[in-house]
Amino acid sequence: MTPPPPEMPTLPDVTVPAELLPGDGRFCCGPSKVRQEAVDALAAAAPTYLGTSHRQDGVRFVVGALRNGLAELLQLPDGYEVVLGNGGTTAFWDALAFGLIERRSQHLSFGEFSSKFATVTKAAPHLEDPEVIESPTGTHPEAHADPDVDVYALTHNETSTGVMHTPRRAEGTTAADGLVAVDATSAAGGLRFDAAETDVYYFAPQKCLGSDGGLWLAAVSPAAVERIERIAASGRWIPASLDLKTALDNSRKDQTYNTPALATVFLAVQQVEWLNHNGGLEFAAGRCDRSADILYAWAEAGELTTPFVADPAERSHVVGTIDLADVVDANQVAAVLRANGVHDTESYRKLGRNQLRVALFPAIEPDDVAQLTRSIDHVLAALTP
Ligand SMILES: *Cc1c(COP(=O)(O)O)cnc(C)c1O
Repeated sequence: MTPPPPEMPTLPDVTVPAELLPGDGRFCCGPSKVRQEAVDALAAAAPTYLGTSHRQDGVRFVVGALRNGLAELLQLPDGYEVVLGNGGTTAFWDALAFGLIERRSQHLSFGEFSSKFATVTKAAPHLEDPEVIESPTGTHPEAHADPDVDVYALTHNETSTGVMHTPRRAEGTTAADGLVAVDATSAAGGLRFDAAETDVYYFAPQKCLGSDGGLWLAAVSPAAVERIERIAASGRWIPASLDLKTALDNSRKDQTYNTPALATVFLAVQQVEWLNHNGGLEFAAGRCDRSADILYAWAEAGELTTPFVADPAERSHVVGTIDLADVVDANQVAAVLRANGVHDTESYRKLGRNQLRVALFPAIEPDDVAQLTRSIDHVLAALTP
């Protein structure tokens, strides 16, 4: 006998008044809001850009604009270069395991994304088991100098928990003691940092860069370039599509090893130039600061809301996580918001908390974050007795 189907929970019929809704309802942590101005610029450029060779000047000019614009936005020191390739951050972890880590890495593991890179290096048969330093979710650990380690793997913003951690070299170390590789996928272009404290600062364009996924980008130091060249020359087997030396050689010609998504590259340039024209990283980070202030102040003041990250200094200014009191189901709140055109406020699925998660990336208007809090207040009032 087949059991009866489970009851589908019915969604409460709550209409958020239009005057409380944000102007744009996209709060996803990746892919994230793409500015309409960028989409319009792409549509205007399309007839001579989309569908043209990525080895000819037209597309190479746009790739060059992306590399130069990022060097300006991230205030890269002399000698740092921007490298890019296909496959997004997840593929780049594999590229790092093949082409940057000599023998052993140290990982700060404090959430889903930072733990994933540690899993990659643990599985790589040519590397020794990594040193993994963990801390409870909602906090971050600190790197410590270890002479047995040649890459320190940090995460600027742990997107799954909403913890930010400004990258810094381990006490008393330089690049000669170990390269610092930073997963800045959700941080790059939204959070302040000092590039000189990093050797490989890598990310993907679907978060702060307001573009689409599928591409990886990395700002690499001269010490990282030297390491990449040394490993490439060592005879280690490296799949061509994950070969950092091949990526470096192509990037220097404003190309990628294989075909990139031209729309993704174009939209990323639009965002980087928009940020640079308005004041660069300080402008971008300032917008994120404002959005974060609005969100966390609201959550602290509310009866049913609490910022998940206890230490205000560790609360992310690009991804906000807000716990809800048990009297209300966060998934239901997110579903009601979605039905009202406010998307993707669900918490990270594997975190398993009664929580809302909200992107605060530079493309998102701080005023829309304020409106979002008013929308949530309306839904909370409707769902609680
Ligand atoms: C989104 C994200 C990733 C995964 O990026 P993909 O481009 O989808 O592979 C990795 N790390 C962090 C911190 C992220 O936010």
